[in-house]
Amino acid sequence: MPSTGAYSIMKKAPVNKIIQFSNVDGPGNRTAIFFQGCPFNCMFCHNPETIHMCSSCGLCVSKCPAGALAFDEGGKVVWDSGKCVQCDTCIKLCPHDASPRVTWMSVEEVLQQIRRCAPYIDGITCSGGECTLRSEFMTELFREVVRLGKTCLIDSNGSYDFEKDPALLEFSQGVMLDVKAAERSWSEKLISDPGDMVLKNLDYLKNIGKLYEVRTVILPGRDTENENTVRYVAEHIGDACFYKIIRYRPFGVRERFLKILGEEETDEAYAGRYASLARELGASKAYVV
Ligand code: SF4
Ligand code: SF4
Repeated sequence: MPSTGAYSIMKKAPVNKIIQFSNVDGPGNRTAIFFQGCPFNCMFCHNPETIHMCSSCGLCVSKCPAGALAFDEGGKVVWDSGKCVQCDTCIKLCPHDASPRVTWMSVEEVLQQIRRCAPYIDGITCSGGECTLRSEFMTELFREVVRLGKTCLIDSNGSYDFEKDPALLEFSQGVMLDVKAAERSWSEKLISDPGDMVLKNLDYLKNIGKLYEVRTVILPGRDTENENTVRYVAEHIGDACFYKIIRYRPFGVRERFLKILGEEETDEAYAGRYASLARELGASKAYVV
């Protein structure tokens, strides 16, 4: 495979979008890279179009008002970013939780965008979807970004076995880890996975000093599930990292899950109770967003 010597120029990853300047994806000003694809199927996912890869079923092609979608010679759906007016028609009608607006990019192509932002950012954050599905790509990207004097954060659902990939963590400042459920049965329902790896990562990343932040979504009226999760996380992290208690917001949630989770957002005072509980249990850096 051709290589620059430092990183592969052939390796490509599916990128859903790059936000050049974000102040909500980690500390300071950051370039955020969102990869396509996720192994979980969380009920409250706000970006379900990032879960699966486009299967080129073609349903969205004729509905695009801008003519930005077409079939290539091999029958694959291709997207013309120059024509796209970002109306979201395609992702709203896709029955497969996918998006045709994905660009396969090389490490060098992503780096070119980061270099342009470099004077104005503190670092980058890889997110998704689930960015660790592209762990080799990320390791190569991080190595180069660290050379630019910038930090690299991983925004992860915890499905990846970080213990088996020290190279990825070597170049990363840390992981922002979602812990959505502490109990297997609730985790199966909420994220379609028993969550064992997530909980393993919680301890592992904390113990090696690579846990930057943990996030838990507080659902309205789910007193037992909320408390069990917050208790578990708080007792495991102590004051090792930030603990972001996130209010459930129904925006973007798929219709079938809205029927289960409801259309009301979590009350600030209700979420605040769990932040207080977390702090009482030792997670001194717990706060509500
Ligand atoms: S984005 Fe969805 S609807 Fe459009 S071609 Fe791909 S799988 Fe089909
Ligand atoms: S968002 Fe989708 S449907 Fe809308 S213009 Fe772009 S490709 Fe077409």
